[in-house]
Amino acid sequence: MRKTFLGEPIYSECVGCGIVKGEFSVPGGLICETENFALHLDPEVPIEYFFIIGAKRHVRYIHELTENEAAELAAVLRKARLVLLELNSSVEFTVIAEERSRHLHVWLFPRLPWMDGYEDSLTSIRKIMLAAKKMYLSKEQRNKILGIAAKAAELFGKV
Ligand SMILES: [Zn+2]
Repeated sequence: MRKTFLGEPIYSECVGCGIVKGEFSVPGGLICETENFALHLDPEVPIEYFFIIGAKRHVRYIHELTENEAAELAAVLRKARLVLLELNSSVEFTVIAEERSRHLHVWLFPRLPWMDGYEDSLTSIRKIMLAAKKMYLSKEQRNKILGIAAKAAELFGKV
């Protein structure tokens, strides 16, 4: 069974819909919500600064978005990146929207010092995510990740 990194089971058929409908609590809550998108942490993968922008509507492809939704997504993406810059200016991100996933979401995936053992390339990202899921999550580490989400929520309206 799928679980959030805080241990809550995820029963939702679609994780993206489950997050926006509040079927389970995404760790750190919704960092920001616009009319059509929500910014949040990955519910299952505890990595600092790893943010996800999810569509509220169940769509799979970017081309299914209306022009207004697409413009809104770009604006949220830019703002999320500005917030991340404010939180830690030394981290670089890989931005990914994987269409194999059933529900449109965009990853802002950070490259952090602890990932140095993994090649700095797209192919390493899944491996890093899997390693982060399996790694023992200390209370300090967990609080750090949740603290980043809280700080980001505060900053979002200000950048
Ligand atoms: Zn969905």
